[in-house]
Amino acid sequence: MVKNGQVQQESTRLCCMGRNRSSTTIFQTFPWAFITKHTAGMCGVGKCMLRWRKWPTDECPRCGQQETTEHIWICKGKDSLLPWTTALTRLEKWMEAVQTDPDIIAAIMNQLHSWRHDIEDSSSYSWEIQNAIDQQTDICWQYAIEGWLSIEWEILQQSYLDNIQTNCTGKRWMSELIKQLWAIAWDLWEHHNSILHDQMNTVTDTRQKMVDRAITNMFYTASALLSHTIDDFLVAVHLQTL
Ligand SMILES: [Zn+2]
Repeated sequence: MVKNGQVQQESTRLCCMGRNRSSTTIFQTFPWAFITKHTAGMCGVGKCMLRWRKWPTDECPRCGQQETTEHIWICKGKDSLLPWTTALTRLEKWMEAVQTDPDIIAAIMNQLHSWRHDIEDSSSYSWEIQNAIDQQTDICWQYAIEGWLSIEWEILQQSYLDNIQTNCTGKRWMSELIKQLWAIAWDLWEHHNSILHDQMNTVTDTRQKMVDRAITNMFYTASALLSHTIDDFLVAVHLQTL
């Protein structure tokens, strides 16, 4: 259960893997601080940047809405659908490759899709799967992207692995699933940064307008002060040429 942005561990069994359990090569160079900051809600999103007086606005550079940490995952602005669908396709392929229970795959994929697009998941599930979905919904699917998963997924996967008689473990599967979700989070963050730093966007547009206003004010102030003085040549230009 999540209350006031804080995960209440006593009310819901959770599984969140620590960095010292990482062994996959791509995660040996993974920006762990990103996960920590983002989960704590203290990272370079518009809401924080405005509070820290680094930006003139809390607007998302992709869509113009207020940018919170959750908004990074669900933003529907500038080209944001492509990195999401690419990342989800990768997640689905990974789950299939590691012998994930097909019912778990369907549930996670459908629920992530529903959460991001704010639509109802009309699929029907077994009561065990529905129970895991309900627990994850209590935690919040935003937190799933950040690695907070209900332990019920691990239990269900272990049961499936036992049924198909493999030596794989639900625990190991869960650890790898969390890393896959973190990779999605990182891809979406990187896309946000590419729009923010490499393209014109609402943030740079607001900054540009502020600079234009400051120049205009300075020009009219200087014009008033210098007119009919020997220095009036300093403002003998058209404002549009500045
Ligand atoms: Zn946005």
